[in-house]
Amino acid sequence: MVSKLDWASVMAQANALDVADPLSGFREEFVLPDGIIYLDGNSLGSAPRAALSALEVAARQEWATDLIASWNHAGWFDLPTRCGDRIAPLIGADMGEVVSCDTVSLNIFKCLGAALQMRPERHVIVAEAGSFPTDLYVTEGFLGLRQGLSMRLEEPEGTELASLIHGDVAAVLVNQVDYRTGRVRDLPALTRVAHDAGAIVIWDLCHSAGVMEVGLNAAAADMAVGCSYKYLNGGPGAPAFVFAAKRHHEAIRQPLSGWWGHANPFDFTRSYRPDPGIRRFLCGTQPILSFRAMEAGLEIAGRAGIAHVREKGKLLTQLFIDLVEAGCEGRVRLVSPRSAEKRGSQVSFAHPDGYAITQALIDRGVIGDFRSPDILRFGFAPLYLCHADVAEAARQFCAVVTGDVWRDPAYAVRAAVT
Ligand SMILES: *Cc1c(COP(=O)(O)O)cnc(C)c1O
Repeated sequence: MVSKLDWASVMAQANALDVADPLSGFREEFVLPDGIIYLDGNSLGSAPRAALSALEVAARQEWATDLIASWNHAGWFDLPTRCGDRIAPLIGADMGEVVSCDTVSLNIFKCLGAALQMRPERHVIVAEAGSFPTDLYVTEGFLGLRQGLSMRLEEPEGTELASLIHGDVAAVLVNQVDYRTGRVRDLPALTRVAHDAGAIVIWDLCHSAGVMEVGLNAAAADMAVGCSYKYLNGGPGAPAFVFAAKRHHEAIRQPLSGWWGHANPFDFTRSYRPDPGIRRFLCGTQPILSFRAMEAGLEIAGRAGIAHVREKGKLLTQLFIDLVEAGCEGRVRLVSPRSAEKRGSQVSFAHPDGYAITQALIDRGVIGDFRSPDILRFGFAPLYLCHADVAEAARQFCAVVTGDVWRDPAYAVRAAVT
């Protein structure tokens, strides 16, 4: 291991890579505060400049001036499917198979309801113990509604998920990319295993949508949910999305059958009749201002092209790993997969004092985050990060980890949101 890196030549190489980067122009489309290297786009993406102007128009013109006419004239009512259609090509879905709405947590609930109704004779939901907790919390809540249902969990150090899927499994709820480690699951292979057992798979794409190819239809996936405020840069609390394969639309009954999912909501009929397509996943009135901001982020992602984004993501994460491992004297342990193919657009290192180190780095303008118990997590959003950012972040990281500054007791005090 090289203990002393020549940072001047590292920076020169990074600058050369930036000159050759086909996505370098997209950086200009985001507001990037001075003095900050933002490696937390996997938690909250940066603000597109176009989102800020869209918000201004939506608030001042569409809401304040045009009022109720905007439902029709500004296309408010169609925003959920219009945004869904922008997300579709990013995740390998067709037009009409994705709708933007609500939160990931709510959409998981709807998908579980739909899957259980499609497999009424089965009573097990398979999930990951190491999942992002809301997926488990919502599943627990769902179990409470029907007697005899149970959850079967893959333990992090135990049996592989695939071996838990038997003939009693109705639904498998699984993340494509692990939020702590960045590990990528084999989506086509696991979908096949589930289908061989007759189960429905619900993919959680929170850490893959917008940053890597997903290939839902190529894998014959059933349903998926995902987040728009992370790599899709939709803004804080941006509506999430749901995918369901067209072949399932007619059979799907989701339990939050509100008026927005009705075939003709403005007929105000007495009984519920679902929309024939993906709109049946809607429930009630959607947050239009959030939608208007989000659309700008989705438009940028579509223009950049997901294959280019993925390629750059692999280069950025690899550069960070190489530099940190060369400069950190073995003081941190790589938790993410070494192979770029098996890694999302994030890099995680473990250190027993990860929280304090994260805080010390934030003080130096390198924004990553900490995930319990000991993980320092860095997200690499290829649309607005450049190689020089990554090299500089690695330099700061190595300086903090190999020095003593993080031992300052102020860095050990925990904030509410980490
Ligand atoms: C971010 C994230 C969520 C967020 O859920 P919300 O209900 O939209 O707050 C859910 N699942 C995973 C895996 C996530 O990473």
